[in-house]
Amino acid sequence: MNPLPPWVDAMSGWLDVGHDILVDALRRERRLIIVSESGARTALADQLSRIPSSINLNAGERPAGRTSDSDPEATVVGFGGGAALDWAKLVASETGFDLVLVPTVTSTNSIFTSSMRERDESGRAGEVHRADPRLVILDLAVLTTAPRRINAAGLADVLAVETALLDWIDTQAGEEDDREISTHSSLVEDLVDALAGLARAYDPSDEAQCLETLRLLYESVRLMESSGGPLGAGYEHLFAWNLERVTGRKFVHGEAVALGIVVAHLLRGRSVARPLTVLDGAGVLWRPHQLGIDDEDVARVVASVGEYNRAERHLDVPLADRSPGREWRDWLREAS
Ligand SMILES: [Zn+2]
Repeated sequence: MNPLPPWVDAMSGWLDVGHDILVDALRRERRLIIVSESGARTALADQLSRIPSSINLNAGERPAGRTSDSDPEATVVGFGGGAALDWAKLVASETGFDLVLVPTVTSTNSIFTSSMRERDESGRAGEVHRADPRLVILDLAVLTTAPRRINAAGLADVLAVETALLDWIDTQAGEEDDREISTHSSLVEDLVDALAGLARAYDPSDEAQCLETLRLLYESVRLMESSGGPLGAGYEHLFAWNLERVTGRKFVHGEAVALGIVVAHLLRGRSVARPLTVLDGAGVLWRPHQLGIDDEDVARVVASVGEYNRAERHLDVPLADRSPGREWRDWLREAS
């Protein structure tokens, strides 16, 4: 293994990074409550079989009864992609147990976030739950062998800060916003440059590129936090959540967000050349037909994105008054 980059060193104690480390790292933990999804369980059945675990939960499932009095020393482990990591945050916050995250893909920034919002089957938004992970285990042997398509989708979650920044610029309320926006603009610019660099010859099975993807996910979360909110959920995320509600389907998070990014640019009349350098360069799927939808679906999502997010998530939605013009719907169809 090559020497680890300095940003990893700077977080030693909180980040555990290496090759084939997850079994040993989890064996050091106390009684485990492992939250995972079937995909990760199947792909990593061998590793999981070597980890003693008292309770296994699916993402979306709560432990039966509260056990914190009788079992004060359990550790909740989020094991898998965004859904498992986020659900583990909920279980940790409800039980008060320690939280350890073991991402098995680089597909979302939830590796580095502390909060999640519960959603029911129909996409209805519920409570926000928060738990700070005590440890994040990045096993490069696992992450570099995850499906390329899923790993690549994480780049869209990073690119999302740019469309969120455009929303912020559109809705800025005064001088303080002005100052904050100009500070964050150059940081967002740096992040997009780094993404474009990574996408030029993207190979998530390469250790250095995998680490760079993780760094960018981490930096995007830091930007969201330092903005105090505005860079957290831009039009692209509001679109992605509404897409799941309107179609009643689950999508790879980053792919739904990627389509939201493209739509946000089209609604603003901006060129999509730069976002596509990143998305197409890295092989992120975002075209409606690749996601199993068509331009009619996209138009329905755009038409209801404002209403849904205001009613369900109490979030203001920039661009909500813009309707999908003929021109960009044609463009979208051609791009498919
Ligand atoms: Zn996201």
